[in-house]
Amino acid sequence: MAHWSQQALERLSGAGYRRGGAREAVIELLDEQPCALSAQDIEDRLRTGEGRRVGRASIYRVVDELVTLNLLTRVDVGDGVARYEPQRGHAEHEHHHHLVCDGCGRLEPFQDDALEQAIRQLASRVSFDVSDHDVTLHGCCQACRIS
Ligand SMILES: [Zn+2]
Ligand SMILES: [Zn+2]
Repeated sequence: MAHWSQQALERLSGAGYRRGGAREAVIELLDEQPCALSAQDIEDRLRTGEGRRVGRASIYRVVDELVTLNLLTRVDVGDGVARYEPQRGHAEHEHHHHLVCDGCGRLEPFQDDALEQAIRQLASRVSFDVSDHDVTLHGCCQACRIS
C-alpha cells in the first residue's frame, strides 16, 4: 500500500496545489507519527528534528488544506487544542483511540478489539446509522503522576 504522504501529495497536486517545501515537510512529518500532533507540535518537531523553520501560519494553512481534502482528521480531545492525524481509511490495524493526560496534554493511541466489537454491537441496536466513532479516555500520564 502506498504511503499516506504519497497519496496526500498526489491529491494535493490533483486539487491544483503547488508542491511546496512547507507542505511537503508537514506531510512527511505527519506520515511518520503514530498519533495526532498539534500545530505547535508540528512546528517544534520540524525545528528540532530537521532544523526547519516553518511558520505557524503556514502550518495552519497546510493542515486546513489537508482537512478540507479529507486527508487529515482533526482530533479534538476537549482541551481546546486541535490536533491532526492522517486519515488512512478504515483499515482495522490503523484504527485507534486516544488516552489524553489532563495534566500535560500528552496524547497516546490505544487499540482494543473488544471495545471495537462492543461498539459494533451497540451500533446495530441503536436507531442511528452509525458511520464513525471515537473514544477518548482522560486521566493522568505516568510522568505527571511521578512529579
Ligand atoms: Zn491518534
Ligand atoms: Zn501528563
